[in-house]
Order: sequence, then C-alpha cells, then structure tokens
Amino acid sequence: MMNVGFLILGAGPTGLGAARRLQELGVHDWQIVEAAPEPGGLATSFLDDKGFTWDIGGHVQFSHYEYFDKAMVEFLGVDGWLHHQRESWVWMRDRFIPYPFQNNIRRLPPEDLNKCLQGLLQITQHPRPKPHTFREWIDATFGPGLAEVFMLPYNFKVWAFPPEMMNAVWVGERVAVTDLSRVLTNLALGKDDLSWGPNNTFQFPKHGGTGAIWSACAKRLPAARIKLNSRVVSIDVGKREVVTASGERFGYEHLISTVPLTELIRLSGQSHLQPLADRGLLYSASHIFGLGLRGKPRDELATKCWMYFPEDNCPFYRVTVFSNYSPYNVPDINTHWSLMTEVSESPHKAVNQGQLLEEVIQGALNTRLIDKREDIVSTWSFRAGYGYPTPGLHRDEALAELIPFFEERGVYSRGRFGLWKYEVSNQDHSFMQGVEVVDRLVNGLPEITAADSSHANSKKHPWPFERWNATHGEAVR
Ligand SMILES: Cc1cc2nc3c(=O)[nH]c(=O)nc-3n(C[C@H](O)[C@H](O)[C@H](O)COP(=O)(O)OP(=O)(O)OC[C@H]3O[C@@H](n4cnc5c(N)ncnc54)[C@H](O)[C@@H]3O)c2cc1C
Repeated sequence: MMNVGFLILGAGPTGLGAARRLQELGVHDWQIVEAAPEPGGLATSFLDDKGFTWDIGGHVQFSHYEYFDKAMVEFLGVDGWLHHQRESWVWMRDRFIPYPFQNNIRRLPPEDLNKCLQGLLQITQHPRPKPHTFREWIDATFGPGLAEVFMLPYNFKVWAFPPEMMNAVWVGERVAVTDLSRVLTNLALGKDDLSWGPNNTFQFPKHGGTGAIWSACAKRLPAARIKLNSRVVSIDVGKREVVTASGERFGYEHLISTVPLTELIRLSGQSHLQPLADRGLLYSASHIFGLGLRGKPRDELATKCWMYFPEDNCPFYRVTVFSNYSPYNVPDINTHWSLMTEVSESPHKAVNQGQLLEEVIQGALNTRLIDKREDIVSTWSFRAGYGYPTPGLHRDEALAELIPFFEERGVYSRGRFGLWKYEVSNQDHSFMQGVEVVDRLVNGLPEITAADSSHANSKKHPWPFERWNATHGEAVR
C-alpha cells in the first residue's frame, strides 16, 4: 500500500489545482488517482476522427483570480490564447435578440413586448417581497411578462428542474429589479443594449480546446504522481484508506476529494447521509452534440459566440459556434465550421437518448443554424451524467452537515460536484478551490472560494488574497 500525506481523487481542474499548489509549496508527498484515461475532468476536450475538436459544452473563461490568470499564461504561453468579444444572443420568435434579453425586448413582436412592459410596470409599482425560490426571484426581478416570454421556458431548458425547486441564493441575495427606464430609452431610441464591448472579452486556447489547458497543467507535474485509469471503488474514512478497481490501496493523512459528493457518500459507505443527499443534492446531466459542418456559417453567425434557445422547436438550450473560438477547432477553417449544442436531462425532464441527435439536427434546421443536413460531415456526442450541480432549495442545509462531517474525518470535498455550489463551479473557481484547500491544510490559511461565494464572485482577487494579507502576514508565497 502506498501512503501519502495528500491523496487527491480526480484530475479535473480542482485536483490539478491542489496538486500544483502542493508542488509549488515544496510538498511532494501527494498522489492523484483519476478514473479517466486523461486529466481534465469536465474540462477535457476531444478530437474526433474527422479532425474536429470538441469540449464538453462551450467552455468560456471568466477569471476572478490573478493566480488563475498567471497559471493560464504559464500553461499555454502568451501566444497560446485567442481573445474574443463575448457576443451572446437569444434566438426566439424567428429572430436574434442581443443578451441581456431584458434590455433588448424592443426586438420582440408587439404582443410579447407589451406583455413584458406591463410586467415590468407591475413590479415597479408593486415590488415583490424578498424571494425564497428561484421562481419567486424571476417574478420579482423580471415581472410576469418577461417570466412567461423568456425566463421560465429558458431556465427550465437549462436546469431541467422547475424553478420552484431551486433556491434564490445563487443568483445573489439582493433583488436587482430590471431597469425600466433603461428599457424604455432603448425602446424609444431603437437602440441595442449589448453586454459586450472592448472590455468584455474572453480567451480560448488556440489549439486543442479547453482540455489543452489541463493537459498542459498535468504535464508540468511529476507523471508518476498522477495515476490515470484508476477508479476509486471504496474509501475507508476510519482507516484513511482508498481502494481502486484494480485492488490498489492508498493510505492518506488528508483526502482531497473532487468526485461528486453523492459518490463520496456511497464510496465511503455513509448510508445514513443518503437521505440528506437525496433531499439536498439535485443535479442534471448534460448531453453535448457537436455538428462538424462543411462550408461557412451564414453571415449572421460569423462573429457570434454562443446563443440561447428558449423555445421548443429545438432540444438544446445553448449553442456555441465553436469554430469561432479557434480556427483550429475544425480541420480547415476555409472549408469547415462547427456548432456545439447542449441539452439537459433530469428526472423532471426526460430525454430519449437514442433520438436526441436527430432532434438536435432537426432543431438546428428549425432555428436556421444550418441550411441543410447534407452539410454535416461529422457528429460527436458526449453525456456527462453529472453536468450541472442544481442549486436546490435544501442544498445549503445539506452541505452544512455533509462538508463538516467529512472534514472531521480528514476528507475535504471540493470542486464543481465536490462542493456542489453552482455559483463557484467554473474552471477558475474549481482550480482555486484546489489551491485554497491546500493553503488551508499546509499554511493554515482560510479558504475564500469554498467559504464565501459572494465574495469570490465580487471582483478580481489579487494574489495573495487580501483577506490573507490582513490576517496572516507572510504565510503565503
Ligand atoms: C456543459 C458544461 C459547460 C461548462 N461551461 C463552462 C464554462 O463556460 N466556463 C467554465 O469555466 N467552466 C465551465 N464548465 C465547468 C467546468 O467544466 C468545471 O469547472 C470543471 O471541470 C470542474 O472541475 P472539477 O475538478 O471540480 O470536477 P471535474 O472536472 O468533474 O473532475 C472530477 C474528476 O474526478 C474523476 N472521478 C470521478 N469519480 C471518480 C472515482 N470514483 N475515482 C477516480 N476518479 C474519479 C472524474 O473522472 C473527473 O476527472 C462547464 C461544465 C459543463 C458540464
């Protein structure tokens, strides 16, 4: 049996963040155990046999951390990135409407526009009480018109759960009522109110998709410490021992687990926690379908990044023009382009997996993303069983018991499904959760991202964190 100070389950961004930070702090007593054949987790990319590159859904980086930014440059180099304006749109009523939708309702047909305006007037005149559920938040923030026309149909397609089952915490505690005066000005002046502009850009790897970031991160770590193709099948939290499917055993002092929290409960045999998880830890699966296409996108799609689809003429809620992220995502940008579509699934929103690709293709025709099916030269599909950690109504009370229960036993559950907090589950958050839990265990510093998501999302954080500087002097390098 191998014994280590730090055993890390999973080589996604969280596990790699933890390993990198240990290495950086000069702690070499660690080991990653990963089920998949490659690192990256949900941020892995795939090259299909026709030469198209695919992500597990369009990954866009929104970094809240200087530490993360520096790591990105270190992994891929300054020249390894392409920079784009974040251009996002909603397709509905047979037209494109710029995002944020509520500021651009002037583009709707008159009946819908009137409904939205009446609803906004209602909430301006009669503000709603502080919302408890996501449904109440939508009604209070957007009014009944915008809720009916866009927010409710769109959000059910994304989340696959009724908004009554979701909390209002993850969208922020304060109700930001839509600015009616701004909406009216845009209407009167016939002006589009765009969320993008010169300061609203994102970066994407030039080669190899999002996964290139994480394989580059893994390559900078000692290969022998990242054990791939090794699924953990049981965890003894009393003996502090982990067993893999091939029978290998690992002893640990600290276990940093990035596997879904529900799996951690199952693998460690803590069946008494199951009712808490069943009630609090909702999740949806994500089906990703890539369409590799010959020719060029029509002019309207030439600079678009991603688009939202609230209507039922297509199964997907979001589509990325993935060839716009990097020309190297397709075999030859002069003759090819690509679309990546996302479809959600849950016990409240069943899909017929066998028919889904056909429904996606028909949806792409219905929404005029493509002209004819003969242009499709490649299709790619992937189902992430754990896709979105749903912010359910009882999530926070479940986490308040589950996370400390494991920590008392030396197990730190972090990452997108380890911590189950959608609001801090992007790549930057996940990577930093790994980094921060190591700083907590090695340097005694408090975690920021896992402990205080509102603060984590409030700004770009310097490194070392300001909160650390104030209280912990020179502990950080
Ligand atoms: C559809 C979709 C779209 C997204 N879009 C964006 C985006 O635009 N921007 C962004 O920043 N992020 C995005 N993300 C989120 C991003 O993928 C996550 O932030 C990130 O992958 C989470 O990292 P993680 O390490 O916490 O978890 P994961 O990536 O899930 O890694 C967990 C790892 O644990 C391994 N594992 C599980 N069980 C076991 C076991 N029993 N034994 C051993 N190993 C195990 C898994 O194989 C996996 O590699 C998106 C995710 C999805 C699904």
